[in-house]
Amino acid sequence: PRPELLGPVEVRELAERLGVSPTKKLGQNFVIDPNTVRKIVRAAGVDAGDRVVEIGPGLGSLTLGLTESGADVTAIEIDGRLAAELPHTVAEMQPGARDRLRVIRCDALDVTAEQLADAEGRLPEILVANLPYNVSVPILMHLLELIPALRRGLVMVQSEVGHRIAAAPGGKEYGSPSAKAAWYGDWRIAGNVSRRIFWPVPGVDSVLVGYERRETPLGDETERAAAFELVNAAFAQRRKMLRQALQPVLGPSERTVAILEAAGVDPTARAEQLGIEAYLAVARAAAAAA
Ligand code: SAM
Repeated sequence: PRPELLGPVEVRELAERLGVSPTKKLGQNFVIDPNTVRKIVRAAGVDAGDRVVEIGPGLGSLTLGLTESGADVTAIEIDGRLAAELPHTVAEMQPGARDRLRVIRCDALDVTAEQLADAEGRLPEILVANLPYNVSVPILMHLLELIPALRRGLVMVQSEVGHRIAAAPGGKEYGSPSAKAAWYGDWRIAGNVSRRIFWPVPGVDSVLVGYERRETPLGDETERAAAFELVNAAFAQRRKMLRQALQPVLGPSERTVAILEAAGVDPTARAEQLGIEAYLAVARAAAAAA
């Protein structure tokens, strides 16, 4: 039978036919292992009829796993040749799935909710992607902010980055991406990925990192923006105490200390000691003091 997913032979043939030589600049490392693809689709909990958004489909290795499961896939690809070929690849390998794929050719950092909405105006519910390494965090943050209704996400990123995203307060790995990601839900490392399942083989290890959206949002959009502004200011001077680091946002020393105390936060604490709930508490105390 003809294969429904791309293995090493199919990936090479497709790349050769398209004249694609993978570029480092666009983080192009293509998955050549159908077992890994099926593992990712299963771990992401993707079922028939789910609306999935995939960033950087490339030659279609992961896309075909998603369409195979019966999902409706919106794929965002910056590389014009890859974006143009993807519908043909899916039509050829899974003829019944062609209608369940939509490809948007653009930079994922610029994609809008209007572009992502389907004909009925519905946004994707699940994010699944093997992200380009150099821009994985900004792309992730853009999508989380753009689609508040995302139920869950599972992305493959560079190992260090994944551990930073999933980090809890208090450790060296905890930073502004960890604090911001935690706004949306609970993150976990969902598995390691061998570098041998890529072509070309990357110089770094990868992990799968995933989250489930919180049942009740922590706060509204205004509160999120205010909390993120505090996170940015705190981590911009992560060695300093919050009573100093937050002055650019909260005002002169006395006022900053009063707001921190009103929020129940120790003014001598540092950025990495606070979870996102504490940043939100400070944002609320600041709004109340205004
Ligand atoms: N999903 C494919 C796979 O698993 O084999 C390819 C993954 S590869 C790591 C990253 C993909 O993201 C490439 O296809 C690359 O062209 C694309 N890409 C890079 N930067 C992008 C951006 N800013 N917006 C959208 N796609 C991008």
